[in-house]
Amino acid sequence: MLLVYDAIMVITHGELLIDFVPTVTGVGLLDAPAFIKAPGGAPANVAAGLARLGVPAGFLGQVGDDPFGRFLAQTLRDAGVDVTTLSFSGQARTALAFVSLRADGERDFMFYRHPSADMLYSPADVDIHAAALRAARAFHFGSISLIGEPARAATLRAIFLAREGGALISYDPNLRLPLWPSAQAARAGMLLGLEQAAIVKVSEEELEFMTGASDETEALLRLWRPGLKMVAITRGAAGSTYVTPRFRGSVPGFPVQAVDTTGAGDAFMAGLLRGVLADPAVLEDEDELIRVYRFSNATGALTATQRGAIPALPFPEDVYRMLANLT
Ligand code: ADP
Repeated sequence: MLLVYDAIMVITHGELLIDFVPTVTGVGLLDAPAFIKAPGGAPANVAAGLARLGVPAGFLGQVGDDPFGRFLAQTLRDAGVDVTTLSFSGQARTALAFVSLRADGERDFMFYRHPSADMLYSPADVDIHAAALRAARAFHFGSISLIGEPARAATLRAIFLAREGGALISYDPNLRLPLWPSAQAARAGMLLGLEQAAIVKVSEEELEFMTGASDETEALLRLWRPGLKMVAITRGAAGSTYVTPRFRGSVPGFPVQAVDTTGAGDAFMAGLLRGVLADPAVLEDEDELIRVYRFSNATGALTATQRGAIPALPFPEDVYRMLANLT
């Protein structure tokens, strides 16, 4: 058991669910004739992204003891993710989300979480994996697991244990308003995660929502916490921005034919964690930081060129090829 734990460098934690996506594009859920099941859950995508880039990663969380839960566990295993820390609940089923992209570009969402297995994950469930958490070099989480109890306390417990072992804490707050009781609760919950983090990835929209400031400099001032080492702002096709106490700058994205941007942000996050873990000194060296962001922009861009999240995550050689072609 210890050997398995020793091999895990990054543990990601949060929701793991099935996305049901229509077989045809450009229709709302009402008109969709049929759906295909796709593995979903941002923290799980990050673990798969890391594994594909050669960084040992494990996923901590819970699915239902049902065929969809088994399918998700198998998908992560096939992607090279350690699922020793994945539990199967007999009390609730695997979370489902029906998601369609309408013709007007808006997403139509419908969730089945009343409650789902991930929502019932508790601090006692986390404690079983204390050794793995203390051994991790980094711990990454999102904001969905902060929505309600006992999952919120479980997330905070996992962060506590990982930090006890010296892990770098990384956070990706996701704006999913329909899952929160109110916008105010969403803002407070997303800020709660921020208090714990050393590295944070936000979109421009999330940054504005969390801080209430539309001016980016003002928003960053309001967002900043003493424990923060770096904020990454993702800007879709335009690329990303790095912010540390010493540096701030933008790195352009790679022009690609985007087919489906699902998972691009998670792939970007995986690239970023890989770079920081390979050499934490990049945080103090702007040129190196730019190299890490170029790499991460490439992982995000490549993921946008294929349908689905996990199947589209790139291998290091794909990323290096893109970097070499466009330097
Ligand atoms: P999220 O909003 O989930 O954080 P983004 O959609 O901004 O993620 O994507 C993350 C990163 O992936 C971007 O910063 C960019 O580097 C890359 N990326 C995403 N979409 C595209 C695209 N259409 N073309 C090129 N790069 C992209």
